[in-house]
Amino acid sequence: MAKTIFVENNIFEHSRTRKLLNIIKARNIIKINHYGELFNRNRQNFRIQKDSLNYIIAAKKNNLVMPVPRSTTSVDGYYFSHMYNCIYDCDYCFLQGHFNSAYHVYFINYEDFGEAILNKSIKTKTKLWFFSGYDCDSLASEKITGFAEYFVPFFSKLKNCILEIRTKSSRTTELLKIKPNPNVVCAFSLNPQNLINVFEKGTPSLSRRIKSIKTLSENGWKIGLRFDPLILTKARKEDYLELFDLAVNCIPKSSIHSVSLGTLRLSESHHKKMIKNDRQNRLLLDNRYGYEKKMWQPHSEIRNIEVHLREHLKKLIPQSSIFLSE
Ligand code: SF4
Repeated sequence: MAKTIFVENNIFEHSRTRKLLNIIKARNIIKINHYGELFNRNRQNFRIQKDSLNYIIAAKKNNLVMPVPRSTTSVDGYYFSHMYNCIYDCDYCFLQGHFNSAYHVYFINYEDFGEAILNKSIKTKTKLWFFSGYDCDSLASEKITGFAEYFVPFFSKLKNCILEIRTKSSRTTELLKIKPNPNVVCAFSLNPQNLINVFEKGTPSLSRRIKSIKTLSENGWKIGLRFDPLILTKARKEDYLELFDLAVNCIPKSSIHSVSLGTLRLSESHHKKMIKNDRQNRLLLDNRYGYEKKMWQPHSEIRNIEVHLREHLKKLIPQSSIFLSE
């Protein structure tokens, strides 16, 4: 049970707030004016808060839809965040360096996000990607948020848009109740199991993620395979070759919307903050990575293996469906 749920005054009676309060059990419910008063305070400890969670329910007012930073994807697009932070605890998660607090923030004004998305979409005829898993895992908290339940039907009306629901979750219960549509991609982040064991605490096993991929594909969902981030410290090149074969061949090629592969890297400032918060994090102290151009990223020894992996992936999948982060 959470200690406290903080709720913004002006949305206390909102139907999504009431739903959240019914599902998340807490000892105290405290009304606040604005989530930033708590969430953005300095001198909070992300690691300590992660072990002793509180929740915030709020309405997002500004920057509802933002351009995706070029350093995170090779695709032009936008992201929007119905939630800050995540139920999982990956050692490399940049949110530890990005936010001052580990509290889970749920933004409940979905209609405002919808309007902002619509405004972007009507200004162009070209295909626009919208990513929902930038500041959280898009699917892991679906039971609480009803995010997909609202946004999957919403995106079915936007013919020039794609919604990517990025996840490490194996939840399918809620998605299977929704009609899939080709504008929505359920994109699974995948890594070899030996790496999941060490660096992706609390996440479902690789076999559970693969099982969910198969179930969703059989039920008409378009699947994204995201080998991101590659971490060639604990896992070997051979582990990834095996993973590629397993994932690419577990469903018909026609179900695969896209495949991407990305290196492990963080901005220098995020990396420094994460180290300061957690001096036991062995991954972030690995000497095969270092700072270059304001980014913490792998040295050439690892980059060369990644190039080989990219070439291998290109042979398995039609070129048109591969997106490679630089
Ligand atoms: S699943 Fe994604 S958002 Fe959640 S802790 Fe891991 S990297 Fe961060």
